[in-house]
Amino acid sequence: MPRKPKRPCSYPGCPKLVEGQYCEEHKRLTDKQYNQYGRDDFSKNFYKTPEWRAARKRQLDSQPFCEECLKAGKRTKATMVDHIKPIKQGGDKFAPSNLQSLCWSCHSRKSVEEGSRFSRK
Ligand SMILES: [Zn+2]
Ligand SMILES: [Zn+2]
Repeated sequence: MPRKPKRPCSYPGCPKLVEGQYCEEHKRLTDKQYNQYGRDDFSKNFYKTPEWRAARKRQLDSQPFCEECLKAGKRTKATMVDHIKPIKQGGDKFAPSNLQSLCWSCHSRKSVEEGSRFSRK
């Protein structure tokens, strides 16, 4: 059986011929970079997906007012859609039951509260 043709490592300037994308050394290097930055890339990219845009639009169509402000008797136009249970904590990404409409100020307050809850742990 002929094996897959080898190609140069994808790391810029590395001349080693490999079967995969990177040689052993650079595979380890790029794995490390992925572990360091992967999570942030995930959330950044997630909010750009058509699936999320559709879920967000659906949520704002069904609840155009900020739900936190409504609880306080105020009607503020919602501009953000928030995950009630954060994705990082295993919350469902698209289930309407895990989404809530928020205005910008309620959303930033909630993010701060979540942040301080994490750091206090
Ligand atoms: Zn290499
Ligand atoms: Zn609000």
